[in-house]
Amino acid sequence: MNFHLEKSKNQSLSFPFDSSITLSIKREDRIDDYVSGNKYRKLKYNLDEARKKGFTTLLTYGGAYSNHIAAVAKAGRLFGFKTIGVIRGEELITKVDQNPTLSYAKANGMMFDFVTRTDFKFKTTQGFQNKLRAKHGHFYNVPEGGTNELAVLGCQEILNEEDAQFDYVCCAVGTGGTISGLINSAQPHQKIIGFPALKGDFLSEDISKFATSNNWHLNLDYHFGGYGKINEDLIAFINQFKIENNVPLDPIYTGKMMYGIFDLVQKGYFKDQSKILAIHTGGLQGISGMNSVLTKKRMPLIL
Ligand SMILES: *Cc1c(COP(=O)(O)O)cnc(C)c1O
Repeated sequence: MNFHLEKSKNQSLSFPFDSSITLSIKREDRIDDYVSGNKYRKLKYNLDEARKKGFTTLLTYGGAYSNHIAAVAKAGRLFGFKTIGVIRGEELITKVDQNPTLSYAKANGMMFDFVTRTDFKFKTTQGFQNKLRAKHGHFYNVPEGGTNELAVLGCQEILNEEDAQFDYVCCAVGTGGTISGLINSAQPHQKIIGFPALKGDFLSEDISKFATSNNWHLNLDYHFGGYGKINEDLIAFINQFKIENNVPLDPIYTGKMMYGIFDLVQKGYFKDQSKILAIHTGGLQGISGMNSVLTKKRMPLIL
């Protein structure tokens, strides 16, 4: 599986305050509108593997607005796989057409298996897996969020030789696959800083399973209350950032990371004259889903 854009461009950004620090963003979001950013990197070698082993169906897992579900649905259609999405929340079965991510996945041929939140929690157990096999037959299992060894291998291709000039590489963290790839391909002088989009301290352990170096750190201060949680301050930041830099950020991952970077720069966290590279891991398909939630809550929308 190959897209035209194997090497994303870096774009320089400006701060609305004085600083000796320079910041660039790697536009992995430009790879594709749906198979975007790290989801493309994570699927690349998994789809090669599925094809090599003769699988014709991909099965994966995700929530109502999952970037990963959208990416698997489109990649499946483009590369000739049937796709099945095991979706968290039985109530969504009647709401597919109102949900932008699920209706997009459906239009790309994905079949859904809606499960309760409890079943979803136990999705990796033998019992649940046996039920899936009985129902859906032979399939290539792509884990939730897409993270496995082949995914980390794909994420090792995000950085290239020209990126050796940077002192810091920053990324948003969900399951830790992306940061593991960055850690493994970084130069010895570089420090990788991850911004988890969710609460919890299990991540360092997960990353240690894949990472071959200890040149990294997780900053736990910018999850905004947990996965998918946002506030008006974050929305205002994302909108202002887009106006000033002409770069859209998603509210679940990259918006929180960039908010964190700006805040840390202002607090003097980075050494003077540092060069920072932030990875735009994509996720922009999630904006319309978030805006429908914000509309219901009568909150300001993301531009
Ligand atoms: C899935 C996702 C992440 C998290 O990546 P992990 O490899 O799971 O840590 C970050 N950013 C965006 C936009 C994503 O869609």
